[in-house]
Amino acid sequence: MQYNWSRYLRLIFAGLAATTLIGWIFGQPLYGLLVGLTTYLWWTLVQARRLYQWLANPSSSDELPQSVGLWGDIFDHLHKLHRNHLLTQDRLRARINRVQESTNAMRDGVVMTDARGTMEWWNGSAEYLLGFKPNKDRGQYIHNLIRTPAFKAYFDARDYREPLEIHSPAKPHIHLQIQISLFGDDDRLLVAKDVTRLYQLEQMRRDFIGNVSHEMRTPLTVISGYLETLVDHGNELPPKWRRAINTMAAQSSRMEALITDLILLSKIETGEHTLDDALTDVEALVGQICHDARALSGDKKHQITLKVTDQRLLKGDESQLRSAFSNLIFNAVKYTPANGSIAVTWSANRDGAHLSIEDSGIGIDPVHIPRLTERFYRADPSRHKDTGGTGLGLAIVKHVLINHDGNLEIKSRMGEGSEFICHFPRGRLVERLPETADN
Ligand code: ADP
Repeated sequence: MQYNWSRYLRLIFAGLAATTLIGWIFGQPLYGLLVGLTTYLWWTLVQARRLYQWLANPSSSDELPQSVGLWGDIFDHLHKLHRNHLLTQDRLRARINRVQESTNAMRDGVVMTDARGTMEWWNGSAEYLLGFKPNKDRGQYIHNLIRTPAFKAYFDARDYREPLEIHSPAKPHIHLQIQISLFGDDDRLLVAKDVTRLYQLEQMRRDFIGNVSHEMRTPLTVISGYLETLVDHGNELPPKWRRAINTMAAQSSRMEALITDLILLSKIETGEHTLDDALTDVEALVGQICHDARALSGDKKHQITLKVTDQRLLKGDESQLRSAFSNLIFNAVKYTPANGSIAVTWSANRDGAHLSIEDSGIGIDPVHIPRLTERFYRADPSRHKDTGGTGLGLAIVKHVLINHDGNLEIKSRMGEGSEFICHFPRGRLVERLPETADN
């Protein structure tokens, strides 16, 4: 390039020298120089105009104008750059097409939106599963197309660790699992998976357990009733029958408790009957449960204390909360040896409201803690045979807390005691009205 530049200068000077020489021959060297300069200026302007025209609309023709000398080289370099640019563009377009083809082939719906939810791109499955229209919906807000309030809350909350399950806005019989990821400049990538089959199976399982429990309840009540009558008239029975009847009565009341818990769990699990707008006076509720717990403790003489540091009410279903809290407090009584202590605390801070139940009982090996809320999971079955529990208590607690947007934390050390904490979001706390406070 450097070499060419001095060559161009030499050429220009040679040309000007030639026109000056011709002018000198005719006795007018200055005119000669002037004609040379004007010719060069004119030629330069013509080339600049051709370049300008091509730059104004480069796509109209792939070919750049041809020229010689300095302008010829400029055109050649631009031509090379333009060709490389077109090649890169083609390569990128092919790559984008390939990505779009592969995402279109996916069975899951994929949608790209900006931070505010403006729809930018989606695949064919999203059109089928979510009912988006190919051209009409581009640029629309996703909230206008998926109107479920739970979806808006999920989208705006920016906490996408857990997926969201909703019915499809276009085909209500389809159940979708929505997972959002953040990318780029706070943009969102939404993946919608059809989980209808799983949802139906789960529903069938719940219905089956609920129905079987209901069907078993009536015959069991009859059997228990007769057994109780037999126990009441134990003195009239031959001694060898007495023990058998007592064992049968104990086992049938255990089965009754189990069936009651199964029915309760299947109701709570669906979450459909949760009275979400009701207000619960946790202080009064936990007070009653502690009172019952003292009666349950009886001769074991546990020290049961209740501390309340927040007077606000909790938005939630009282009967479900009663089941959850009583399961935890009665467990503390069951798994704490005589004269042990149980401290119940209801408090609130910036993170939300918390009910803690701390006991000085037998404790739980940490390896069991992650699985403790599974149905019928027992930390050490041999040690808990005599507690008479159903094994469903903590599963009930977990589902009640899910219905109330809360979660259960378990801390425990073998032989030192355990602490079960129910966490609720701050938004569920409601100030008492003056007349409520007076009562
Ligand atoms: P169960 O009816 O057997 O008490 P739960 O679901 O209520 O069933 O509890 C599950 C298991 O968790 C219990 O079997 C027991 O091993 C353990 N557990 C629950 N609460 C406590 C506690 N306060 N202290 C020690 N172990 C506990």
